[in-house]
Amino acid sequence: MAGMARGIAPSGEYTMKKTRHGTDYYALEVAAAAHLLKTDLEQGLTAHEVQVRAARYGLNAIADAKQRSALLIFLTQFKSPIVYLLVFAAGLSIYFEEWLDGGAILVVILINALIGFYMEYQASRSMDALKKLTVLPAKVMRGGVLNEIDSAAIVPGDVIFLDAGDMIPADGRIFKSNQLIVNESALTGESIPADKDEATVPAGAALADRKNMLYKGTFSVKGNAWIMVTATAMSTELGQIASMVQTADQASTPLEKKLQRFTKTLIIVTLVLLALIFLAGIINGKNVLEMFETSIALAVAAIPEGLPIVATMALAQGMMKMAKHKVIVKKLSAVETLGGTNVICTDKTGTLTQNKIAVASMQIPGTQEAATTSKNAEIILHTGILCSTAELVQKKGKPKEIGDPLEVGLLNFAVKQGADIAQLRQDHPKLSEEAFTSETKVMATLHADGQGYVVYAKGATEEILKICNRILEPDGEQTMPDSSRKHWLQTSEELSARGLRVIAVAYKQTDTKEGKLTDELVFAGLLALNDPPRPEINAAIRECHKAGITVIMITGDHPAAAKNIALQLEIVDSESATVIIGNEMHALKGLSHKEKTRWADTRIFARVSPKQKLDLVTLLQAQGNVVGMTGDGVNDAPALQKADIGIAMGKSGTQVAQDVADMVLKDDSFASIVKAIRQGRIIVENIKKFIVYLLSCNLSELAVVSAVSIANLQFQLFPIQILFINLITDVLPALALGVTEGNPDIMKRKPIDAADSIINPKRWVSIVVYSLIISAASLGAVYVSGALLHPAVDEAIALGNNSLLLTLIFSQLFHVFNMGQTGTNFFKSEVFRNKYVWAAIGSCLLLMLAAYLVVPVRTALSISTISLPALLISLGMACAGTLVIQILKTLRIVGS
Ligand code: ADP
Ligand code: MG
Repeated sequence: MAGMARGIAPSGEYTMKKTRHGTDYYALEVAAAAHLLKTDLEQGLTAHEVQVRAARYGLNAIADAKQRSALLIFLTQFKSPIVYLLVFAAGLSIYFEEWLDGGAILVVILINALIGFYMEYQASRSMDALKKLTVLPAKVMRGGVLNEIDSAAIVPGDVIFLDAGDMIPADGRIFKSNQLIVNESALTGESIPADKDEATVPAGAALADRKNMLYKGTFSVKGNAWIMVTATAMSTELGQIASMVQTADQASTPLEKKLQRFTKTLIIVTLVLLALIFLAGIINGKNVLEMFETSIALAVAAIPEGLPIVATMALAQGMMKMAKHKVIVKKLSAVETLGGTNVICTDKTGTLTQNKIAVASMQIPGTQEAATTSKNAEIILHTGILCSTAELVQKKGKPKEIGDPLEVGLLNFAVKQGADIAQLRQDHPKLSEEAFTSETKVMATLHADGQGYVVYAKGATEEILKICNRILEPDGEQTMPDSSRKHWLQTSEELSARGLRVIAVAYKQTDTKEGKLTDELVFAGLLALNDPPRPEINAAIRECHKAGITVIMITGDHPAAAKNIALQLEIVDSESATVIIGNEMHALKGLSHKEKTRWADTRIFARVSPKQKLDLVTLLQAQGNVVGMTGDGVNDAPALQKADIGIAMGKSGTQVAQDVADMVLKDDSFASIVKAIRQGRIIVENIKKFIVYLLSCNLSELAVVSAVSIANLQFQLFPIQILFINLITDVLPALALGVTEGNPDIMKRKPIDAADSIINPKRWVSIVVYSLIISAASLGAVYVSGALLHPAVDEAIALGNNSLLLTLIFSQLFHVFNMGQTGTNFFKSEVFRNKYVWAAIGSCLLLMLAAYLVVPVRTALSISTISLPALLISLGMACAGTLVIQILKTLRIVGS
């Protein structure tokens, strides 16, 4: 890391005023800066130079203070009150020359640490793997070839192209730009985007005034630019800030925080109980050392100090699973939020539809026969080719489509009509551009056209008509009468009602480069485009409805098209469904109660702007919903941030949207959101499962030992046995529960209530009842085996001890299966079908067998061999306990 903090050393030629950490590139002319960086602005760095610089400057990544080495993770396992207690117990044993006991406790400490280490290490590895998946690509020129590379591989001197909506991957000096506007709020706090260009800035300018510099972590809102990288990684301005605030808030998820608080409460409760047991033992005249060790063993057994990390591990594993399903979840907490999501606001284009857009028909003034040969058709074709940012290229011999699918569709249409795209673009170079935004819904470009100029524009019909004053009829340009406007609006409406995406085309000839592009245009006609729904969506929508999740479509498209698709996809079920149009959406502030209700009851929002999206999320959240919202553009970022789950499109979304989102869909499909919600529910359920399981097991151990203590019986469990039970039942079965596949019914239930605490009163009751039943079965086994087997006096204590130990273990192992969803058949529950649970139980049984067969272990655990009848009684009592629990569950007296 130390090497990465170096700036780029200035060469001797220039004597530079240096900032805190490097050269003032903004104060240099472009050529001088390039010279200093030893880079070629046309070709970029050579492969060799890239290698050299990569070795010198390392990865372009902001060092993460949370990153811990494996050794450190292992060592921190010993930093826990539980370990201190155990060490204390081991020390006592050794002091009293109970070597075996002391050694056994030390082994327990080691095993505990290894398990804790394994879990934490796994979780952190998953997180690292996921972080790699979210690294954004950058367009880098190297050796004369422009290619997309991992932005972590950028080195100082790299030549990078930046598009609208891209995150700036490193600090750099602009050397070519086109109407670039950058949002630097991440760095300067200034939320108003700033214009940027390549002009040199006087030395000494403040960060915010360095108009020719771009900084890592900020993003381009509009336009594009070429930059040469001046600093990477920790040498960037962002890196400097990051290194100053390396306090790194170990962002715990709300769930982890809840668990941490919960565990603390449990510790206090347990300690109080233990004090009582200890006192009872002393009063009953038990050996003080033994009582002490019992108390410590019980404390270790009863306190589920591993809960938060097991939960983290379950969440991290869920993220990995989702990643396999093409959903990248960026924050651990999002997994949990997904489980509670009850409203999804989704885009139409690309998310619900395939985004394979093809021209279906062309509508122009005059007769249809003249269609493809007329002047109007030619203008429409030219608009598709020239008023465009898309490209059809050959990559390794294969055709490749780059850009907005709608524009790609227009290019494909042009090719089919026999147009020569390259030639036309060469003959009519683009001189300026009014980019398409989802606010204006119009795009216009200015081109050279012979002696003069021509503007081509395309966009939503209403918006194009607003800026047209003429129309091109078969007999030439005419002023556009109102009747004609009405006619075209209606045509547009009819096409939209068939589910087609409609764009209107307009143009104007002019003799000046200056002046507004988007006024006094001549209307040329309409194009209707087909964008079929994705086949997987209907099932996903149905699943949402069953799962109590409301699906709301929000689109910039025409209301009629929106409704058609919504009907096809069963988002609404009747032609009369309400559609709210952006124009009717008054600002949220001051919205009447009636209006608010109308918004909340509507499933289709059309011609909506990003600001209105934000208002809608805000309203839905205020009404207590947990909202997931999709978005792709720069302007969607605020709504994505506001939503409980911001969802960005991995294929068609901008980098900004992906950066602020909580979740990125690699395949852009709505169905993936539903899969993620399902997974989120499963994980939260699983976490609840193992909490209930662990707590009821722990409590049963506490109850058994307390009962024996208070009743002053002879066959108490030995401390080391308590630790053994704890080790066997706590770890493997609990972990296995954490990876249970969901119950098939999981999406037929209501979303998990966010306000519901992990352990609600009903679950507390269940935990207590479960533990009492397990305790009763265990103590009962002692009684039954004593009554049936008539042990000799000197065997009675050993038999009692054995029965107690075995029944407790068996009961706890069987108890795993009680964690199946209430209401499902015991033998068909998701837990019964979980092969990991079976593997865990199998391993535990093997461990027990080993403990009984291996003499030194057996001695260390102070257990004696057991007869078959006694074994059968223990098994029988454990089964009986499980049966009772199942009956109570069927009667819905316990269970969640
Ligand atoms: P959505 O993505 O929700 O369908 P958009 O904001 O992308 O909505 O599009 C809204 C309208 O703008 C479309 O109905 C279409 O008429 C027009 N439009 C979409 N993309 C372009 C584009 N690249 N150029 C011009 N107009 C467009
Ligand atoms: Mg769009």
